[in-house]
Amino acid sequence: MMRKTNETNQPLIFDLDLPELEAFFAEWGEPAFRAKQVWQGVYQQLWNSPEQFTNLPKSLRERLSKAFRFNAFTAERTLQSSDQQTEKILFRLPDNYAIETVLMKYDIRRTLCISSQSGCAMGCVFCATGQMGFKRNLTSGEIVEQVLHYARVLAASDERVTNVVLMGMGEPFHNYAAVMQAIDRLNHPQGMNLGERRFTISTVGLIPGIRKFTAEKRQVNLAISLHAANNELRASLLPSNVRYPLEDLMQACKDYVDATRRRITFEWALIQDVNDTTQHARELAGLVRGMLCHVNVIALNPTKKYSGKSTTRERAKAFRDTLEKAGIPCTIRLRRGIDIQAGCGQLATEAGLNQ
Ligand code: SAH
Ligand code: SF4
Repeated sequence: MMRKTNETNQPLIFDLDLPELEAFFAEWGEPAFRAKQVWQGVYQQLWNSPEQFTNLPKSLRERLSKAFRFNAFTAERTLQSSDQQTEKILFRLPDNYAIETVLMKYDIRRTLCISSQSGCAMGCVFCATGQMGFKRNLTSGEIVEQVLHYARVLAASDERVTNVVLMGMGEPFHNYAAVMQAIDRLNHPQGMNLGERRFTISTVGLIPGIRKFTAEKRQVNLAISLHAANNELRASLLPSNVRYPLEDLMQACKDYVDATRRRITFEWALIQDVNDTTQHARELAGLVRGMLCHVNVIALNPTKKYSGKSTTRERAKAFRDTLEKAGIPCTIRLRRGIDIQAGCGQLATEAGLNQ
């Protein structure tokens, strides 16, 4: 059956970097400063419709509107958590696949959790996105648009995006080029100028991606989804561990820390009796001892196709205390937005999308 789509041939304006935009304007016989005006309109004024570019001649606005799309997404559903601190959007893409974007408001931070793919090919057993399989890579512009969307929402109350984590749908290092292009575009000094240090990439542990990222010496933060400290258990939760086992992964992490002198974060979703005992914590401590790192633990968010249960508050604390006694800094992350299926992939699953 053919998929019903809203696809057009017009490029999405967020898919272009500044030199590419300038090339369009040059082809149209327009001066380069016009391209810069459009760039600033998109990334500083946050305009998302050609009519808003009132600093351009009308003829040029019309040309822009014929040449480019200024939106790829339709907001399918928006959910607010009961404490109003978390908001989640289910976006529908032009080809009808879905992604999720989350805004978290804690203290003065305005953190976005964005997607890099629709679905995911990595198949982690407890993850709702993994359970739906891979749909497709997002383009750099589709990654950018998630940030611009919430930048506009926040600007309405004089607020700004302070942090962006690539922890929504998808494996960022399975869509490496588009993710880095999106970060570069949002980081551009003549545009949004969102510093690299404000971004965090979370990976399931794709070693070629980690090595490439290390060589680029970016200021972007790196988080590794560990969840187990021995190969047998890790491979049963994260199938990618078969190809990229722990010894090689830890070596890549050490090399990253040595090359960049940046602290690495390890993520650990606590699953009752599977990986949440003090014995598991000691095993983890042994694995990461001596490395410049930090462990983030979070209680498992139960999903439809995985029978594992969440940990208890007591066990989470005991896990953290065991790590800290071994000299490994650990933070228990709260399960925010649990009442709005804020675990990645859960809203799309519930809405019957990406089936
Ligand atoms: N693909 C990347 C980033 C997206 S997932 C990665 O795996 O790192 C972001 C984080 O959410 C990962 O640490 C992932 O293991 C975790 N996660 C996925 N499903 C979860 C669930 N049901 N409960 C708790 N954490 C989950
Ligand atoms: Fe993909 Fe990350 Fe989910 Fe694993 S945890 S299936 S890598 S999104």
